[in-house]
Amino acid sequence: MATIFSKIIASEIPCYKVAENDKFFAFLDINPLAKGHTLVIPKQEVDYIFDLSDEDLAAMHVFAKKVALAIGKAFPCRKVGEAVLGLEVPHAHIHLIPMQNEKDMLFSNPKLKLTDEEFKAIAKAITMAF
Ligand code: 5GP
Repeated sequence: MATIFSKIIASEIPCYKVAENDKFFAFLDINPLAKGHTLVIPKQEVDYIFDLSDEDLAAMHVFAKKVALAIGKAFPCRKVGEAVLGLEVPHAHIHLIPMQNEKDMLFSNPKLKLTDEEFKAIAKAITMAF
C-alpha cells in the first residue's frame, strides 16, 4: 500500500509544496516546529533512509541543501537544522527546521497551529527564495 507521502507526491493528498525534481519532493510539515519546517522525501518509496543507494542518498542531500538555503533566506535563522527520525511515517524523509538554538530541534516541543493562509504564505516565501 502506498505511503501517505507517496499519495502526497501523486497529488492524491494535498500538501504545501516547496520544491520538486525528478527524484525528490519537498513540502511543509503539517505539524511544524517552526515556520518553514519542511520535509524532503525521495519519490522512490523507501522506509529507512539508509536503505537508499549511496547515489540517491547523496542526491537527496544536494536537493535538501537547495531547499535549506531557500528556507534560510525566507526565514532568517542561525542555521537550518536537519533531522531524520522516520518513526511515524514509513517513507524516508529529512526534516529541515529553521533554528535559533538547539531547543528548536526538539520534537517534544509543542507544534505550531497555522492556518491554510499561513501555510500558503510560508510555502510561497520559500519557493520565491530559490
Ligand atoms: P517522523 O516519521 O519523522 O517521526 O515524523 C513524520 C512527520 O511527518 C511529522 O513531523 C508529521 O507532522 C509529518 N506528517 C505526517 N503526516 C503528514 C501529512 O499528511 N502531511 C504533511 N504535510 N506532513 C505530515
